[in-house]
Amino acid sequence: MNVVRTREDLRKFLADWRRKNPGKRMSLVPTMGYLHDGHLSLVGRAKSVSDFTSLSIFVNPLQFNDASDYEKYPVNTDRDLELCAAAGVDLVFPPAPVEMFPGKKSPALVMSMPDLTKTLCGPFRPGHFEGVMLIVSRFLNLFQPDAAVFGAKDFQQLAIIRRLVRDLDFPVEIIAAPTIREKDGLAMSSRNVRLDEQGREHAGLIPRALKMGLKATADSRNSPGDVEEIVKDIIESGTKNRVEYVQLVDPETLERISELTPGRRFLLAVAAYTNNVRLIDNMEGTVPDQ
Ligand code: AMP
Repeated sequence: MNVVRTREDLRKFLADWRRKNPGKRMSLVPTMGYLHDGHLSLVGRAKSVSDFTSLSIFVNPLQFNDASDYEKYPVNTDRDLELCAAAGVDLVFPPAPVEMFPGKKSPALVMSMPDLTKTLCGPFRPGHFEGVMLIVSRFLNLFQPDAAVFGAKDFQQLAIIRRLVRDLDFPVEIIAAPTIREKDGLAMSSRNVRLDEQGREHAGLIPRALKMGLKATADSRNSPGDVEEIVKDIIESGTKNRVEYVQLVDPETLERISELTPGRRFLLAVAAYTNNVRLIDNMEGTVPDQ
């Protein structure tokens, strides 16, 4: 496995690889490290659609609207590199912050996508998706991969990146990978290590509540607001949990759904704090015919 840490070395390495491997496909899996099986499933997907798999590890300061969340973000690059080697990653790029932002200067460019950031995490994390768009654009420009893989766990991020790639004509195929979960259903996340024992138990209510929410859409007496309330109540029955939002949205536009008409596709998404750790999850569904 190759490890390169500077943009210059990365560009040289990739130019060399392309010269020696004409017509071969290269894929990219962007991550913030502290890898788990969710990340490794993205690697598996990337390997299945390309001849050469790259993975970036960068805790992007631009996308943290909360400074303490950034400081507490878990890091273990040595372990990440071992996991990447075992998973068959071909190239890892774990740049130091100063490499991406020389002189600690943030980019002057500001990107925004008002339509897709009006709901879900957008209003609660000002600047977050703007930071994601910038760093993803930068990595796509640096690597110029044929394919890039993102997890559906970060559903809004995925929708924004798909639109970003379309709007800027990045010549890359965006591939979505399903959410990988722990045994009790909790979505894997690098942040889960920050939960204490009780918090970890209560966090397991999040996927259970989402499943109950999906079922509740089948009852024609329930409005979208009723379903959201049911999910919120189940999550908050865990005393360590505090719901930030539960929203039923259209999976394409991410706009709030006003009616549960039979056959309607939807995304039920949640953000909650457990032990003051912010966790997100979502499930897709279709309102059944009565
Ligand atoms: P992160 O390191 O949290 O920025 O995540 C890097 C990539 O891994 C993103 O595309 C995430 O959506 C994806 N990811 C994170 N957790 C999971 C999971 N549990 N299952 C599948 N993909 C995930």
